[in-house]
Amino acid sequence: MLYDVIIVGGGPAGYTAALYCARGGLQTLILEKLSPGGQMATTENIDNYPGFDIGIDGLDLAEKMQIAAENAGAITEFDEVTGVELEGEEKVIHGSLQEYRGKTVILATGAAPRRMGIPREEDLLNRGVAYCATCDGRMYKDKVVAVIGGGNSAAADALILSKLCKKVYIIHRKDKLKAAHSYLEPLKKAENIQLIFNGQVEALVGEEKLEAIQVKVAGEEGQTQLACDGLFIAIGRVPNTRLFAEGLNLDPQGYVIADETTKTNIPGVFAAGDLRTKPLRQVVTAAADGATASKFAEEYLNGR
Ligand code: NDP
Repeated sequence: MLYDVIIVGGGPAGYTAALYCARGGLQTLILEKLSPGGQMATTENIDNYPGFDIGIDGLDLAEKMQIAAENAGAITEFDEVTGVELEGEEKVIHGSLQEYRGKTVILATGAAPRRMGIPREEDLLNRGVAYCATCDGRMYKDKVVAVIGGGNSAAADALILSKLCKKVYIIHRKDKLKAAHSYLEPLKKAENIQLIFNGQVEALVGEEKLEAIQVKVAGEEGQTQLACDGLFIAIGRVPNTRLFAEGLNLDPQGYVIADETTKTNIPGVFAAGDLRTKPLRQVVTAAADGATASKFAEEYLNGR
């Protein structure tokens, strides 16, 4: 089977592209590794996607997007993509189960939080270690937490957590934050936030769940052990573009270079959502990219 469009990734960008492509009469396949929704599915309540007066559970929104696209005629295959051949007229996507062929490809594999790379980080995931205050902050109500990072994400996470938690440490490896000026005053005003500069978290303590962290502060003797129930790692994101690094133009951070048309440097290949170079990565901008990608995929098909 030669599909008109193969969409890699079933998050909001992928399923919006699928909805538009299928409604446009294109033979549309979505390849999703595990379960639809991407990062959105891990968000308890999405408050900033228009149309839901009290917000919506991320998993529910993901299911609705999938059902809407499939009702329009799109097909989902659950298969992990292991390799791609994008250059030719006929694009080939290698999955761990089978191979797929399409005339166009929309890449919508998103991004993932950057890992610290310290021992036990994966073991203690969801048992103290977290990457999203908006998603998981509520689990730490009235508890002590630490946020690692000095950028806007760390500042935003710390402010969210300061409203829920007893105490919030921000641990940053430099001697000043790089977060935007607008965050600095609220951070200073929040009485339960304590900043630790020149600090590196070197070890996670706790068997079943996180109980403390070992912090090394530059210029100080030894390590300090801070008792805490949660550690929010906010040190940036990494785009899921490793598979496409050959042939596609990526920026120095690994995001696919594509403008508002979502066109990449390879004809017939489009990049939609968080994996694309863009100023704002949100569900609503991912969905917008998906719609745009469908328009240009259709235009490419008409010109073939
Ligand atoms: P950033 O890349 O801006 O910041 C990452 C921070 O983590 C830096 O302070 C960096 O330190 C630190 N860091 C990186 N690696 C490590 C490590 N291994 N150990 C310890 N610390 C580390 O990422 P953000 O996620 O904060 O922001 C990403 C983008 O999203 C930015 O463009 C940001 O402006 C935007 N954003 C905007 C928001 C808003 O405006 N409301 C909210 C959230 C994000 P160092 O400084 O030493 O490199």
